[in-house]
Amino acid sequence: MTAITIALSKGRIFEDTAPLLKAAGIEALDDPEVSRKLILPTNRANVRLVIVRASDVPTYVQYGAADLGIAGKDVLLEHGGAGLYQPLDLNIARCRMMVAAPDGFDYDSAVRQGARLRIATKYVQTAREHFAAKGVHVDLIKLYGSMELAPLVGLADAIVDLVSSGNTLKANNLKAVEEIMPISSRLIINQAALKLKRETIQPILDAFSAAVKL
Ligand code: ATP
Ligand code: MG
Repeated sequence: MTAITIALSKGRIFEDTAPLLKAAGIEALDDPEVSRKLILPTNRANVRLVIVRASDVPTYVQYGAADLGIAGKDVLLEHGGAGLYQPLDLNIARCRMMVAAPDGFDYDSAVRQGARLRIATKYVQTAREHFAAKGVHVDLIKLYGSMELAPLVGLADAIVDLVSSGNTLKANNLKAVEEIMPISSRLIINQAALKLKRETIQPILDAFSAAVKL
């Protein structure tokens, strides 16, 4: 039987993926939130899970260290998608990529006046494309987390970040000023693995497709 490796991240992606895996007849034998193991066996002898950082999932799948993975569109846009087949939007881990700024900052008139904006973000590629398409000049400052802090201490005029409830923005006196795009997580497959291991991968893909909630 052909062996399959699936790359996942802990937290919301694992939680939202567990029911989809179950629909495909796959159940982890360890809880990644409890276990320190990075390779988790499943009830199926030929299927294992590897637990990696959310932003590393496309890299593992691109190089074939994992055959399948689940990654946010945010992460896939930054990665670029080389070597990946992206057949299915799983409609999980949904949120929005937004521009946010301090309550007192008049973003629209800054844009209208052609001001050069300082933007702090983890999503440099996405931000660069967004502002280039609008013709807004920006200096991008790469951060790895806690983007909300940047405008509060004068590091940036605005941020590009994921927003779901908006509570974190509110707690820091920030407001969303523009939506860039809706975000959800996708199933990704190594292009070579799909050809070589089609008999094992196709049923998993079909079960996921049938289990996706619209
Ligand atoms: P790390 O915690 O390793 O730095 P991360 O913060 O990107 O990485 P998660 O918070 O687990 O990892 O997010 C995983 C994915 O879930 C993101 O890539 C994104 O697609 C989605 N996501 C992030 N924040 C939210 C949110 N507030 N609501 C819904 N989905 C989200
Ligand atoms: Mg996080």
